[in-house]
Amino acid sequence: MKKILLLVMGVMMLVGSVSAQRKMAPKVSSVPAHRICGTPTLPDDFEKWMDDQIKADRASGNTGKAHVVYTLPVVVHVIHNGNALGASYNLSDAQVLSQIAVLNEDYRKLNADASLVPTVWQGVAVDCEINFCLAKKDPSGAATTGIDRINRVTKSWTAPPFSQTYVDATIKPNSIWNVNKYLNIWVCPLSGGLLGYATFPPASTLSGLTGSYGTTTTDGVVIQYNAFGRVGTLDATYNKGRSATHEIGHWLGLRHIWGDANCGNDYCTDTPTQQTSNFGCPNFPQVTCSNGPNGDMWMNYMDYTDDPCMYMFSANQKTRMVTVLTHTPFRVSLAASDACNPPVVAVNENSELAKLAIYPNPTRGELTVLIAEQRSKGNVNFRVVNTIGAEVFNSSVPANASGNYKLNLTNLSQGFYFVEIRTAEGRRIEKFQIAR
Ligand SMILES: [Zn+2]
Repeated sequence: MKKILLLVMGVMMLVGSVSAQRKMAPKVSSVPAHRICGTPTLPDDFEKWMDDQIKADRASGNTGKAHVVYTLPVVVHVIHNGNALGASYNLSDAQVLSQIAVLNEDYRKLNADASLVPTVWQGVAVDCEINFCLAKKDPSGAATTGIDRINRVTKSWTAPPFSQTYVDATIKPNSIWNVNKYLNIWVCPLSGGLLGYATFPPASTLSGLTGSYGTTTTDGVVIQYNAFGRVGTLDATYNKGRSATHEIGHWLGLRHIWGDANCGNDYCTDTPTQQTSNFGCPNFPQVTCSNGPNGDMWMNYMDYTDDPCMYMFSANQKTRMVTVLTHTPFRVSLAASDACNPPVVAVNENSELAKLAIYPNPTRGELTVLIAEQRSKGNVNFRVVNTIGAEVFNSSVPANASGNYKLNLTNLSQGFYFVEIRTAEGRRIEKFQIAR
């Protein structure tokens, strides 16, 4: 087994891959016995860069405690086999949205199972202050749901399952969105026992940026389709969306918590040194490498425990991720990306939608839409989405001569939303706020 694992890791390093996750039987839909990731160790020069950067940030007072909350635009490329929407590999919108929700919980310490963190590490588990939103603008500036469904047959791509080499050489370059504006996530059936892998962030001062670092044609995260999200088509063991949480951790510069070596170093002083990876759902404490009495931090997202048994990032891990977001190519520009703002829709000045008002704004729940010169006789469609792109309201009503429509949104929580108004003459998107 060890030989096989070493061979797998060696092959992965040769093909320049990163973080190939979870070895399992080749049958695509089979359940891996436990989580295994073939991530090669981050090179020492990356660690030197990271260490220097953290020290420089501390010296200048610019640390992870600067209290910047990041919001990273995401595009999810769903690679399918010509399946109907929601069937087989063509995951439903709900499944994709559930993954975004998981990320927004795990990276904000809003996950319900954060309460399970042992008392001794309650002070170490942190809110990483990173949010994720599905893109509303595609690279051409057109409106998008942030879910890019690709029928591989129309691209003449080979039949799944896909090898990591094939994904990196063919699927990624032919589907990737601008890495300076989007976190690219591909969801597809992977072969060779891989259930996910990521690219590491490139650091501009480093030489030899090849292999495991992301490039303009490879940067991002790949997740096995039935380990993505927490509703829908899911493997029973990896059904909490933690594969993406783990892989995005690598994508933001994190190592495995055991340092990919016996009693290795993950360059985080607040995560105990531990022997190796933990599988399944261990009991607390698991003492190894003389790390008693508390033992391994097996509930960390960067260990190999099952989805329901990992539920924290540490403060030092946050510092590394914030350092990456503050200083590395591709990642820095993501924080400033406007890809989660809907495109400005040009409305013909003669269109009935040119004279449109929504009020009150902010509203407590009832929103009036007034189309001052209503001419369309067909239906008027109202669609409301929240800031991560999830549809929260959809209504279609017959046009009326007054152009006066009332939307009852009292069941929505406080926050910012976008309403899309669509008539026979066109459509328009307006931002509004619910405040009570
Ligand atoms: Zn990993």
